[in-house]
Amino acid sequence: MFADLHVHTSFSDGTCSPEELVRAAKKSGLDCVAVVDHDTVCGLAPGMEAGSARALEVLAGLELTAQYENQEIHILGYLIDPENKALLKKLELLKNNRTERVYKILEKLKTMGVELSAEAVFNIAGNATPGRLHIARAMVKEGLAGSISHAFQKYIGDRCPAYALGFQISPPEAVELIKGAGGIPVLAHPYMIKDDEALLRIIGSGVMGLEVYYPEHSQSMVNFYLDLAKKYGLLITGGSDFHGEGKPDVKLGSLKVPYELVERLKEAKRKMCV
Ligand code: AMP
Ligand code: ZN
Ligand code: FE
Ligand code: FE
Repeated sequence: MFADLHVHTSFSDGTCSPEELVRAAKKSGLDCVAVVDHDTVCGLAPGMEAGSARALEVLAGLELTAQYENQEIHILGYLIDPENKALLKKLELLKNNRTERVYKILEKLKTMGVELSAEAVFNIAGNATPGRLHIARAMVKEGLAGSISHAFQKYIGDRCPAYALGFQISPPEAVELIKGAGGIPVLAHPYMIKDDEALLRIIGSGVMGLEVYYPEHSQSMVNFYLDLAKKYGLLITGGSDFHGEGKPDVKLGSLKVPYELVERLKEAKRKMCV
C-alpha cells in the first residue's frame, strides 16, 4: 500500500477540488493521501467525505507557513483535529495576513513596472488562502508573464525583487499550534533551508518529523535527511506537493511512500494522546 503525504487542493493554491483530488489519487494507484493545504483546514471535511465514498484514505493535515529570520519555513501538521478552536482562530488571522501580503507583493510588482490588479488575483484565488501561485497564475492570465515558472524566476520567487514576507508565526509557534490540535509537526521540504545550522535550529524547535522524500530531493539529500532523522529520533514522511495545474510538472502518483510511514505517524499520535 502506498501514500502521498503532501497534496494541495483548491482550498489553498492547488487547482483540484477535494473530490477531483480523490478521484485522481485513486486512479494513480494511491491508497492514502494527506491533504495539507497552506494555512487552512477547509478542504479536509470535503476531502475526507470524498475519500470515504471512494475507499481512499484521506488524512487530515495542513501546511503552516512560519517565518524564520528572512525566510518562510513550511511546517506540515499531520492527523490534526480540524475542529480545534485555537487552531481555527489562528488560521483566520493567518488568512488575513496572506491577503495583506498579496497587496504587498502587488506594490513591489508595480515598482518593477508590472501592473497587476488585486481583482485579477482574487478572481483566481476565490475563497482559498491566497498565495504566490495565485499571483503567478494571474500574471500569466493577464499576459504579464510567459509561464508560472517565469513569474517565479523573475518576480516573486524566494529572494526575487517582488517577494514579500509577512507571516505572523515562528517555527516554534507553528509546532505548538499543531501539537495543540493533536497533530504531528513535520518540517516540509528541508532542502529549501540552505543553511544547515538554521536547519538544526528549526529541528530543535520541536518538529517530530522530516519530509525526507520530496521531488526536489536527490538521493544524496535523501540519505542526508534519513541520517538526520535517525540522529534526532524523527519520523519520516514524503510526498509530491501536488498542486494540479498550478505545478503542471508534478503529477499525482509520481511520488509514493510506503503506507508503513502512515502507521508510524498514527502510532506517534497515539503515544502523544496518552
Ligand atoms: P506562498 O505560500 O504564497 O509563499 O507560496 C508558496 C507556494 O508557491 C509553494 O507552495 C508553491 O506552490 C509555489 N512556489 C514556490 N516557488 C515556486 C516556483 N519556483 N515555481 C512554482 N511554484 C512555486
Ligand atoms: Zn503551494
Ligand atoms: Fe511547501
Ligand atoms: Fe506544499
